[in-house]
Amino acid sequence: MRFLRLLTFVVWGMMMTSCATVWSPEERELINGAGLSRMRVVTIASEADSLLLRRECEPLTYKHISSPEFGRLVASMIETVGDPENEGVGIAAPQVGISRRVVVVQRFDKEGTPFEVYVNPEIVARSESVAIGGEGCLSVPDRRGEVPRATQITLRYRDAVTFEPRQEVVEGFTAVIFQHEIDHLDGILYIDRLQ
Ligand code: ZN
Repeated sequence: MRFLRLLTFVVWGMMMTSCATVWSPEERELINGAGLSRMRVVTIASEADSLLLRRECEPLTYKHISSPEFGRLVASMIETVGDPENEGVGIAAPQVGISRRVVVVQRFDKEGTPFEVYVNPEIVARSESVAIGGEGCLSVPDRRGEVPRATQITLRYRDAVTFEPRQEVVEGFTAVIFQHEIDHLDGILYIDRLQ
């Protein structure tokens, strides 16, 4: 019995190790170093950060989202975007130095305006109707600009717990946030789209 219990721990340990290896050593250091609290926001003020912001991010797998690092990363991203001194309505992983396809978006179209997590999000359809609105970005400090965005989008993504594929139509300001954050995953900043 005791041997069986020991074996369970060994197998569990091996599983956790194999999960952990899906992240690079640099990613693990950054995520685990944050310890569920705010992470440094990458900005265009530094050249090294700019290169990171301009990279195309890598998709996440089920192994990533079921690893302890994913929970920590998401918790830290929510802490970072909610910083009262530098508040945002959305954040993408590259903005905290992780070049992976995950975003946190504040759902202004839902009761209580919760922050929600979207894995491998993509916009599969955009309305022809476009509206111009003011935007800012945590990674472009002290600036704002007018950006044209589709008023309605069809979003496809993976559930952050089950990794099941999901699809949803989003409108209005929340659709603008999705467009801004998903741009980050392709290395695009709102300043590239200024009216
Ligand atoms: Zn941004």
